[in-house]
Amino acid sequence: MIWLVWSALIGASAIWAAHIIALAAMVLPADEGFRLPTALLALAVTFAGVFAGFALSTKRDIRLAPEFGGIVLGLTVAVMGMTTSAAHVIAGADSNGAGFSLWSLLLSACLGAIALSFVPQLRSRRALLSATLFLFLAVVTLHLSMPVPETFASQLGLLSQAGLLSEGQMISVALLICALCAALAATGCELEKERKEAARRAYQHLSLQDSLTHLPNRHYVQKVAADLLKKADQNGKICSVVLISLDQFKAINDLHGYEVGDMVLCSMAETLKNNLSEKVFISRFYGDEFLIINPALNSEDEAVEFARLVRSLARRPIQWRSYRLSIRSSIGLAVFPRDGNDLTKLVQRANLAAKQAKSIGGNLIQPYVTGMEESNRWETSLASDLRNATLENQLSLVFQKQNLTKTGSLIGYEALVRWRHAEKGPIAPEDFIPIAERSGIILDIGNWVLEAACAEAANWAEPVSLAVNASPLQFSRSDFAGLVSTVLIKTGLPAERLEIELTESTPIEDHERVHETILSLRQMGVRVAMDDFGKGYSSLNTLQAFPFDKIKVDRAFTQSLETNPHARAILRSAILLGHSFGIPVIAEGVETERQLEFLKEAGCLQVQGFLFGKHVLASQIKKKQDSLQKTGS
Ligand code: C2E
Ligand code: CA
Ligand code: CA
Repeated sequence: MIWLVWSALIGASAIWAAHIIALAAMVLPADEGFRLPTALLALAVTFAGVFAGFALSTKRDIRLAPEFGGIVLGLTVAVMGMTTSAAHVIAGADSNGAGFSLWSLLLSACLGAIALSFVPQLRSRRALLSATLFLFLAVVTLHLSMPVPETFASQLGLLSQAGLLSEGQMISVALLICALCAALAATGCELEKERKEAARRAYQHLSLQDSLTHLPNRHYVQKVAADLLKKADQNGKICSVVLISLDQFKAINDLHGYEVGDMVLCSMAETLKNNLSEKVFISRFYGDEFLIINPALNSEDEAVEFARLVRSLARRPIQWRSYRLSIRSSIGLAVFPRDGNDLTKLVQRANLAAKQAKSIGGNLIQPYVTGMEESNRWETSLASDLRNATLENQLSLVFQKQNLTKTGSLIGYEALVRWRHAEKGPIAPEDFIPIAERSGIILDIGNWVLEAACAEAANWAEPVSLAVNASPLQFSRSDFAGLVSTVLIKTGLPAERLEIELTESTPIEDHERVHETILSLRQMGVRVAMDDFGKGYSSLNTLQAFPFDKIKVDRAFTQSLETNPHARAILRSAILLGHSFGIPVIAEGVETERQLEFLKEAGCLQVQGFLFGKHVLASQIKKKQDSLQKTGS
């Protein structure tokens, strides 16, 4: 809204002042002057029209909104021409330029429509220039089509009555108003930019620290790792990447409660911090996992030695009231540069090694060895079963409601995939989606999900929206937008009802492709939401890099907001970010009234979670009436 007001102020005052100057520039051997109130009225009308045009052009839920907005803008330019000309008084003139021809109205509307049709792509320079050019043409053609008086009174001194401004005075007033509007808008934009920057900084600060142990979190590791490895490389050092995964953390939580679990993590963090050199980088990586990087080692033997030291620290029993908790952990070790050149690879391998350690009883150090991936039998066999799952009808869908925070009214459903393995029974998406992504099978699964979900949604009684998850791999395929379009045509679901949630389960590699895909989808009228905001390695960068229509904050934040001030702060700053990008924020994982209350107060527009119901089967959503369905088919 604020940006719209600034744009309309600048747009209206500039167009209006240009016209005043054009009128004053007509050289007539007659008395001329301007009626100030009429001129100001014309400015107000222009402001209203430009505001309405711009506002309409940004409506995402209306088809061809930019073009319609452009028509309003074009007509406004024409009407501005008439009203402003009416303020121009020429002694004895047959016309003062206030008339207009139908063709100039039409031309204005067309040029306006073309100009604003570039609105969805304004981040590109070319689109920005094209929009500017066509807006310029719209204003210029108006001046060219302005009727010029043919007869007027050449006798001077006829207009001496008071109240008229001379041409020079009127131009000064117009320029002054124009400058004022520009200054006001420039200040406003600057303030708005600062607000956005502040929201960004606040989020960044919050997102780099683990609130429980006050150690850097995995986002921070990701941020500094490249530098750390590069420096080690330059100094001829090797790095050890040690992943500690506690062995029975769940049991501790179940047995003694979360509070004891938290205490264990804190005391582990404390021990590591107090006993390792300052050069060593310690972070809480995920849940019960700590990641430790030592960038100052000379040999692989030293790397193993260092892992042993870490284990001896991690093993220290922890005293809690009258209990002595003995802590066991599985430790995976990867060595830079032997086991990989970047953090992702190193962590993946340390993780694999830690899993291996856990699978053979835990409480030991396992260095990564080449070929460990292949021996990851469970994954290989699951991947091959998954390949058949789409063919053998083992996949199905459930749907979860999305609601407005304020009223609770239904706005749509998110489709979630389910897999029932022929022998192993149901397998959770959290277990098989990562495998599907690593093996590329997600492409087949994704296609199936998209088509099945759209086909269902096309038959719902209420035309609410449908959210479908898609992984970055799908977005990187050049034909993804085409595929979506084919599915929409085939199933008859209007593009406006579909929203694709881009998850950041795997890092986005092909930025350009993903960007193009998002633009093509949006051009078709399909919305694109950023899923799991705050969970990925680089949520903020992703949010800034791509033109999303919605932010979906990861459910972890909603779930801990009652107990964790840090989670509340993250949620608040995500909502602010949404405001500054002008897109709605949806919070997922809402389970309690108190969470809902917080989100309502924080200004989060949409919610999703068990509070509004668990997932339902497609058959539980009300269908269009049978007769309708029959005529439809
Ligand atoms: P997601 O996209 O974040 O989906 C929301 C997940 O949160 C769902 O888990 C849902 O059951 C769960 N959830 C919703 N409300 C609540 C709540 O109030 N409390 C709690 N504790 N959980 C809630 P689900 O179905 O197990 O899906 C897990 C993840 O698997 C999804 O997370 C998504 O990343 C992925 N996934 C699911 N279906 C697809 C799909 O068709 N394609 C792709 N690429 N990924 C999918
Ligand atoms: Ca999702
Ligand atoms: Ca999510």
